[in-house]
Amino acid sequence: MVNRSFKQETRFIVFTDLDATLLDKHSYDWAHATPALKMLENKGAELVLSSSKTFSELCYFAGKLGTQAPFIGENGGVLAIPNSHPISRQIPDEPNHQGYRTLTNGLSRDRILLAIATLRDEFGFRLQGFSDWSALELGQLTGLSVAQAERALRRQVSEPILWQDSPSQFVMFEREVERRGMKVIRGGRFLHLMGQTDKADAMKQLLEYYEASFPQATFTTIALGDSQNDAGMITQADFGIVIPNSKHSETLVLEGRGEIIYAPQAGPSGWNSVVSELFESL
Ligand SMILES: [Mg+2]
Repeated sequence: MVNRSFKQETRFIVFTDLDATLLDKHSYDWAHATPALKMLENKGAELVLSSSKTFSELCYFAGKLGTQAPFIGENGGVLAIPNSHPISRQIPDEPNHQGYRTLTNGLSRDRILLAIATLRDEFGFRLQGFSDWSALELGQLTGLSVAQAERALRRQVSEPILWQDSPSQFVMFEREVERRGMKVIRGGRFLHLMGQTDKADAMKQLLEYYEASFPQATFTTIALGDSQNDAGMITQADFGIVIPNSKHSETLVLEGRGEIIYAPQAGPSGWNSVVSELFESL
């Protein structure tokens, strides 16, 4: 009799940030990562996009990248699982949007915007956020097309902002934000104001769904990112990959529970070289 209690297969899940990680930070293009993406597909690895981007933006990128895997949006505040994916059975009661079961964590954007308005009134903080801009203005700031900017503005549980006040005012702002049950985290381009959610928590949550759906499998996780908001995800992966970001004064320096690998180049070229090398060795 064969003992079927042991784990019979290894599955790979790649959690990746988009901006300045899989996507070039100027052109939003991933062409240089194509060889590694093909390799993932051949290995049957899951490509889980994990970004500060919105549900609408991630639907678009998942379609373009051809990934049928779940994705994580708004820095962990949004989780979306395709209806056709086996792990969608873990959340049968969640609402259905454009072929995805979706759930949200943290605070609603309305509550976050209300808190920003109150803080501006009470303390006179100078800052601007997505809610202050039209799609055209956001496009001019970010290089996104108007259609892309429209998708970026459809936020549910977070608000990206630009800080326009002094560093000492920022210390006070951060304290007031925390007092209201929110936090500020640094993305590549914006500060993100949100509830107590994190890409790392969403990653953990998804991994639990995977493990419940495939009890016979062991999972090897790989996480890639370039910014502070990726740090938790990178450190809890089996293989955490830091993509250098020339815009930051220093690239993330992390200690992980698994192995930490520093990519030799920024953006999709760095993504490609580390992922290709890793999958050749696995
Ligand atoms: Mg990034």
